[in-house]
Amino acid sequence: MNKQISKDRILGGMYGQALGDAWGMPAYFDQDQTWAAFGWIDRFYPAPDDHEVHAGLPAARITDDSEQAFSLAQAYLQHGGVTLAATVEAIIAWYDRTGGDQSKYVGPSTRRGVLALKKGVDPHEAGHMGDTNGAAMRVSTVGLLYAGDPMGAIEAAYTSCIPTHNTNVAVSGASAIAAAVAVATRPDASLDAIIAAGLLGAELGRKKGTPWHSPSVARRIEQAVRIARQGTDARVRLRALFDEVGTSLSIVETVGSAFGVLVMADGDPQQAAVYAANLSGDADTIGAIACAMAGAYKGIAAFEPSIIEALDADLVMASYHVRDLADGIYGLASGR
Ligand SMILES: [Mg+2]
Repeated sequence: MNKQISKDRILGGMYGQALGDAWGMPAYFDQDQTWAAFGWIDRFYPAPDDHEVHAGLPAARITDDSEQAFSLAQAYLQHGGVTLAATVEAIIAWYDRTGGDQSKYVGPSTRRGVLALKKGVDPHEAGHMGDTNGAAMRVSTVGLLYAGDPMGAIEAAYTSCIPTHNTNVAVSGASAIAAAVAVATRPDASLDAIIAAGLLGAELGRKKGTPWHSPSVARRIEQAVRIARQGTDARVRLRALFDEVGTSLSIVETVGSAFGVLVMADGDPQQAAVYAANLSGDADTIGAIACAMAGAYKGIAAFEPSIIEALDADLVMASYHVRDLADGIYGLASGR
C-alpha cells in the first residue's frame, strides 16, 4: 500500500472539481456583464434567466465538466483502470443520459467525437479534430487515479483524450492538468511543484495526437502565472487573464487561465472558485479545473462544511455518489 496517497486529497480534488464548476456556472461570458449582474460572485447563484447555456439551472448545480469527470471515474473503476474502452463507454453514456443531441452542454469536439463513435468510426479516428477544452475539463479523474505519479497520469491522460480530443493541443492541455493534479495530491506538494508538473505534462502531451495549429499550452501557463503573481488588484489581474491569456473554449486559454486562478488563490479551492467565476468566459470549466487542482492540493478539510452541504444537496451531484467514487479511486491509486 502506497502510504503517500491520501483519501482526503482525492476527495478534495473531486469536490474541488464540483465546487469550481457550480460556482462558475452562472457567470456570463463577458466580464463586465458578470460584474454588473452579480457585483462579485461570492456564493452559489442560480443561472440568470438569459444565460445562453445554463438558464434554468439552480444554485450549486454542477455542469458537463464534473458530470463527465465523474462518469469517467465510474467507468475507470468498473474497468479497473484508464482504458480506451472505458473512456468511450463513459462519454457516450453521459451524452445519452443528458440528452446530448438536444443539449447545449455538449462541447463541439465532444459532440463531433460522440457522433462519429455512434456511426462506428474507430475511436482512434473519432477525435482527430478535437481541439477544445473538453479534454482538460474532465481529466482531474485521471490525475487522481495516478495520485503522486505524474508520468503515469500523462500517459493515461492521452488515453482519456483519444475518442474526442485526439489533437496535440488537446492532449497537451489534458496532460498538463492530469500531471498537476497527480502532483497536487502529494503530502509535500507546493504550488511551484504543481506548476512544474503542468509544464512537463504540456510539453510531453504536445508530442501526441494529430499535429494541430496552436500556440503552446506551456507558454500560456507561464504567461498566466506571471500575471497572477503581479502585485495588482485582483480585478486588474482577472482582467489581464481575460484579455491576454483568454477564457474561450480554446484549451490553451482554459488551461492557462486555470493555472492563473490557482496561483491568484494561492491554491485555496474556495478562493479559486471566486476568481474563476469572476473571470467570466468559460468560467465553470476554468473553475472546475483550477479547483480540482486546488482541492487535491489542500484536501477536503480545506472546504467549509456549508460548501460541501450545498453541493451534496443537489440532485445531479448526489446521483454520482462521489464519496464512493473517491473510495474506489483511492483503492486503485493505492494498489498501483
Ligand atoms: Mg460546463
